Amino acid sequence: MDDSTRTSGSRETFTLAPAVSFDPDATTPEPVRARFPGEEPPAGLRVGDLGAGTESEPHIRQALLGETFDDPIAPGSVRCVACAHRCILRPGRIGICGVRQNRGGRLYTLVYGQVAIALPEPIEKKPFYHFLPGSYAYSVATRGCNFHCAFCQNWEISQAHREGLVPESRNVTPEAVVEEAVAAGVRSVAYTYVEPTVFLEFALDSMIRARAAGLHNVFVTNGYETPEAIELVAPYLDAANVDVKAASDRFYRRVCGARWEPVRDAVVEMHERGIWLELTTMVIPGLNDDRRELRAMAEWISTAVGPETPWHLTRFQPAYRLSDLQPTPAATLVEAAALAREVGLRHVYIGNAPEVEAATTFCALCGERLISRADFAVTEWRLVDGRCPRCRHALAGVGLRGSSALA
Ligand code: SF4
Repeated sequence: MDDSTRTSGSRETFTLAPAVSFDPDATTPEPVRARFPGEEPPAGLRVGDLGAGTESEPHIRQALLGETFDDPIAPGSVRCVACAHRCILRPGRIGICGVRQNRGGRLYTLVYGQVAIALPEPIEKKPFYHFLPGSYAYSVATRGCNFHCAFCQNWEISQAHREGLVPESRNVTPEAVVEEAVAAGVRSVAYTYVEPTVFLEFALDSMIRARAAGLHNVFVTNGYETPEAIELVAPYLDAANVDVKAASDRFYRRVCGARWEPVRDAVVEMHERGIWLELTTMVIPGLNDDRRELRAMAEWISTAVGPETPWHLTRFQPAYRLSDLQPTPAATLVEAAALAREVGLRHVYIGNAPEVEAATTFCALCGERLISRADFAVTEWRLVDGRCPRCRHALAGVGLRGSSALA
């Protein structure tokens, strides 16, 4: 891809889509509409109604959460309301995420079932420490992302559209994903590695089938979902690990091409809907390691979603456009964790730093050791019916009531 086709900046100057031809009859029907609170769900919301894709392009389907946008200069524009960018797409244009396109006045997903990653992993690796500890999740990802974080560890798939890359992928159906997950013996499906909102249709269809097969669904997300997107997935979403990169608009704008407020609001919205939440922050030297800002973030977490919400502080490793930065010093992580505990957070973990790793769960009330971990595995389980064996305080989380997750 050359520079003339890869523009950036305003919301309306997205990557120019490759030329496509349309059946004129296919461009005129009613546009796909999102289900907004208070509206009756219109027909055409489910993936089964979005078209089967063509034999040569099974991954291109009509998308959810697209609406017509009245632009007198560019008739046929649509707005995607899947994430807080709320891209307005003139005909032929692709959104910031690189995988949702206006084709003939309708919004399409370009990555339905086109998985770049599908593999079983310990749930602790996502990371979730209070959700089905010791179990495995089947991780699924397509390419594309609505953020362009300068430190992205998965940039080969998340930023493929910006970097002119075509990641290896295969086309699978939601049924196949669930079959693979069941065969792998996992207890959940994780939509992860890139922001799952950008492949919402495939995620949602897989979630419905996973739930029917007795599996849980988890998002590893940057939290940039709109309320409309959360409303769609919430009935099937059991847990989310939200990557809260900083509690500052300056950081989000400068480093990720996004804003802080929508993330903040989505975290609260998911919490209020009863979705189990864990939060993760990668502490990056010189960018978000200011002690006052970390303290403010801990205070916000405690107030907004409760002091027993797990917070994972992870070490930055040089990657992508920040390859010249040094890894986070261990002392910074230790100090950040101490600050968080000082303001009242009860479950603060340190990851990706073996020399100071803090991966043990302690009782929020009496401090008793409850769950020990090493290398993303549970090595000791001391909960009794989900409670501390000493003071009987219930540990916050999901799937903690078994006598042991190690079995
Ligand atoms: S998911 Fe977000 S970035 Fe992608 S097209 Fe929709 S609004 Fe734009």
